[in-house]
Amino acid sequence: MKRVVIIGGGPSGLAAAHEATRRGASALVIEKLDRVGGLARTLDRDGSRYDIGPHRFFTTNVEVRNLFVDVLGEDLVRVSRLTRILYGGKYFNYPLTPFNALFGLGVGNSVAILASYAQARMRRLFGASRIESFEDWIVDRFGGRLYRVFFKTYTEKVWGIPCDRIGADWAAQRIKGLSLSTAIFNALYKPKKKIKTLVDEFMYPRLGAGQLYQKMARQATERGAEVWRDATVTAIHHRDNVVTGIRLMTHDEERDVTGDYYLCSAPLTEMLEMMDPPPPGDVLAACRSLRYRNHIGVNLNVQGVPFPDNWIYVHAPEVRAVRITNYRNFSPAMAADSGISPLTVEYFCFPEDGIWEMSEAELVKLATDELSRLGMAGPGRVLSGFVVRSEKAYPVIEKGYEEHIACIRRWLATFTNLLPIGRSGMFKYNNQDHAMATGLLAARTALGLGKFDPWNVNIDGEYHEAGDA
Ligand SMILES: Cc1cc2nc3c(=O)[nH]c(=O)nc-3n(C[C@H](O)[C@H](O)[C@H](O)COP(=O)(O)OP(=O)(O)OC[C@H]3O[C@@H](n4cnc5c(N)ncnc54)[C@H](O)[C@@H]3O)c2cc1C
Repeated sequence: MKRVVIIGGGPSGLAAAHEATRRGASALVIEKLDRVGGLARTLDRDGSRYDIGPHRFFTTNVEVRNLFVDVLGEDLVRVSRLTRILYGGKYFNYPLTPFNALFGLGVGNSVAILASYAQARMRRLFGASRIESFEDWIVDRFGGRLYRVFFKTYTEKVWGIPCDRIGADWAAQRIKGLSLSTAIFNALYKPKKKIKTLVDEFMYPRLGAGQLYQKMARQATERGAEVWRDATVTAIHHRDNVVTGIRLMTHDEERDVTGDYYLCSAPLTEMLEMMDPPPPGDVLAACRSLRYRNHIGVNLNVQGVPFPDNWIYVHAPEVRAVRITNYRNFSPAMAADSGISPLTVEYFCFPEDGIWEMSEAELVKLATDELSRLGMAGPGRVLSGFVVRSEKAYPVIEKGYEEHIACIRRWLATFTNLLPIGRSGMFKYNNQDHAMATGLLAARTALGLGKFDPWNVNIDGEYHEAGDA
């Protein structure tokens, strides 16, 4: 029986274990945290539940969708999407609707937005627009004025670098199909096929995003998979392009583990640093040029219901918070009782930024103060708070990153029994459906059922290599 060793018990690793055991193979999942789910795990405190920021589930990949539905069974809930943008003390619909924007921004501002959009269209018409960065892409589709009002501050709060250094393909992937004219069109007429950003209903597990992965781990375990928690892989040994085993730490004990095939969802940069012997100099240099953004979730147990949205994008430049989520508006079962809202206030940073070093008490105070400044809940309504820090949560899609990835991929392709999978593992800014799809395909490759390359899974979790899938 083939044995697949999987580093990481997040969506990609567990989908791989689920698939391998479904096909009669043996799977070992090694997870460094005390619970499964990775960035999509759910934590519980004082009777309420919190994800690592908002986790809606949406996919166009039928297989991944069916897996989600089958694993969750009766624990699947459908959530109506309500998300708004907070800017200048006012709430704007997300996506923007013409009348809401007109009244919110004022007639003068709206005319200026339309004029700058017309300017961008003219530039495109005469072939004068050059799309090299996120900024170029947005200005081309929405005009410079709307870019400065609605996109610039928010995006720079998330990524920590100027928008002209962010790769254009990031915007093209995430907001594809959308422009000011399509936003206006969509507001006036209901389109048959929704654009990814605009989906108005999504699926969610009743007890939080992580419930899916707890159930998936249970099902895989019932079929013979082993899921080790609190176990951290520290080295990947290899010889002649074959991985020969891995070293891991459980509590204070170090041990070696072997298998036939190895799948790794630890961040790509960490995987390369774990390779023993180390990769060639150019591969290590490429690896060290890649950066991730850290995520801080300040979780607050708040009295009452401060807002009806699933989450709010905080474009307001006067606070550091980026997004605020209310999980009771995903599933009422997330809240300890009907008078409570479990909220996450999110911050993004690099490891060297001061906010990463702030104590839990300081962060809870910062989030409580900002919630109050934004008029959402006075400090007296915050009953308790705790902080979850996630390192390397967002791969930074900086201009030029593709060359580094290409160099790393060339070297990894020489291995016969190793595949990186998932979001941080493949340095892709992607969602759960994508991560699960990479795990499913990688498991089939590991079992010799085809040669599926997880790098060919696109943002929608769909595999693109004619005929293969
Ligand atoms: C704030 C935020 C909001 C998001 N919102 C959404 C959303 O709305 N919808 C959506 O679909 N997706 C969303 N995502 C993305 C989603 O969380 C990821 O796509 C998904 O979790 C990726 O799964 P993965 O298995 O690739 O990686 P991860 O979830 O990162 O799992 C990797 C696992 O590997 C473990 N690990 C790492 N190193 C080691 C090691 N050395 N040894 C052992 N274990 C190790 C980690 O602890 C982790 O559990 C969001 C992510 C964030 C951060």
